[in-house]
Amino acid sequence: MLRASTRCGPIQETIIDSPFSNLGLSAELLRAVAEQGYLQPTPIQLKAIPEVLAGRDLLAGAQTGTGKTAGFTLPLLQRLAAHAGSAGPSARGVPRALVLTPTRELAAQVEHSVRTYGRFLPLRSTVIFGGVGFRPQVQALERGVDIVVATPGRLLDHLQQRTVNLARVEIMVLDEADRMLDMGFIRDIRRILALLPAKRQNLLFSATFSPEIRALAGSFLARPAVVEVAHHGAAPDLVKQFAHPVEATRKRELLAHLIAGGGWRQVLVFTRTKHGASRLAQQLNRDGIAADAIHGNKSQSHRTRTLANFRKGGLRVLVATDIASRGLDIVELPHVVNFDLPHVPEDYVHRIGRTGRAGLAGEAVSLVCADEEDLLAGIERLMKRAVERRVVAGFEPGTAPRRAEGAGYRSAAPAPRRLDRAGNRGFRGADRHG
Ligand code: AMP
Repeated sequence: MLRASTRCGPIQETIIDSPFSNLGLSAELLRAVAEQGYLQPTPIQLKAIPEVLAGRDLLAGAQTGTGKTAGFTLPLLQRLAAHAGSAGPSARGVPRALVLTPTRELAAQVEHSVRTYGRFLPLRSTVIFGGVGFRPQVQALERGVDIVVATPGRLLDHLQQRTVNLARVEIMVLDEADRMLDMGFIRDIRRILALLPAKRQNLLFSATFSPEIRALAGSFLARPAVVEVAHHGAAPDLVKQFAHPVEATRKRELLAHLIAGGGWRQVLVFTRTKHGASRLAQQLNRDGIAADAIHGNKSQSHRTRTLANFRKGGLRVLVATDIASRGLDIVELPHVVNFDLPHVPEDYVHRIGRTGRAGLAGEAVSLVCADEEDLLAGIERLMKRAVERRVVAGFEPGTAPRRAEGAGYRSAAPAPRRLDRAGNRGFRGADRHG
């Protein structure tokens, strides 16, 4: 992800090109988004942002990792900024937007996002949670505040002390509402809601829709727009999934065989590490398969160019790390390959969700060495579905030619020290995650 940049030129270009600009967001917000290095809105952002900008209440089914925070923060900032002048300067202890979260960590994270996306807007935010001093929070509220992000308990303490007043709240967000109910916050939430003005916009985000969440939504939201993205652990139905057992040292060869032999034209390949992504792209190019890598070490302009090239068919293979792939929404992508299995099972579901989009069938294949069988079992448990193993003829585990030291059935990373084609000593050791 890109750090904030003060250079104007490339950012301006990105803003004009950015698919974010179709969502109706202001130049200040597009600039902040471009500086984060986001190339595309995520599905929840595509669906939620226009509804919230239009002033509608929203019931959103989305879990952490989907980009939901920007999904509500960007339009919330825009709506507040639109009326910033008429509401006067940030008022002392009287916020215009309130975001409730179940945990301190999430509150801090969300408020950080508010600051990041709102950095070119004249709006102020603060975060309120328990376990830390009360007085600094009072001082921050007194300095003037537009947006408060809070956990329920400490917010109620401030309400009792009258250090915050919710009578002017225009937009109310319940983030991770299901977790809030699980943590027993329902009475606190109802006490807080009772202090808000009747006329306001309400947004509710939840990973699951239990009867309790539906009851809360029914009492809290008025004719909401309902948007939902893939559920936790739910693999898209249209995606065919296979696992090819293979020795770690022969994965690259198998990948080239599958791409060339299957006539695959557009393939997104995931690796666990930045170094692994770059190295694989280089090796595929040497095999005569046009490939490039995107990951956190590559510049924004490189990422934009590479992605555009891949979209228009100039590149056959795009190799990406999980982080770099967030927000990539390439419709009609027929093939996704897990070169390494992710350590976090949910990442597998995100990865394979890149195919089988827009009602089209897709294929997700995983190259699995012996050390990754446990990871695959964890993924199967999460999805509650088995992934079919298919051994590819000529690549049976245990049949690797003994051409180099260390060529066994072993883990993908760290790579063994071995001779490359030119006979040089190769890379050794684990590289950092991308
Ligand atoms: P969230 O689901 O809100 O916790 O966001 C998960 C991660 O995705 C955060 O690290 C965000 O910075 C990142 N993110 C949000 N929107 C995008 C986007 N459009 N493109 C790439 N990354 C994003």
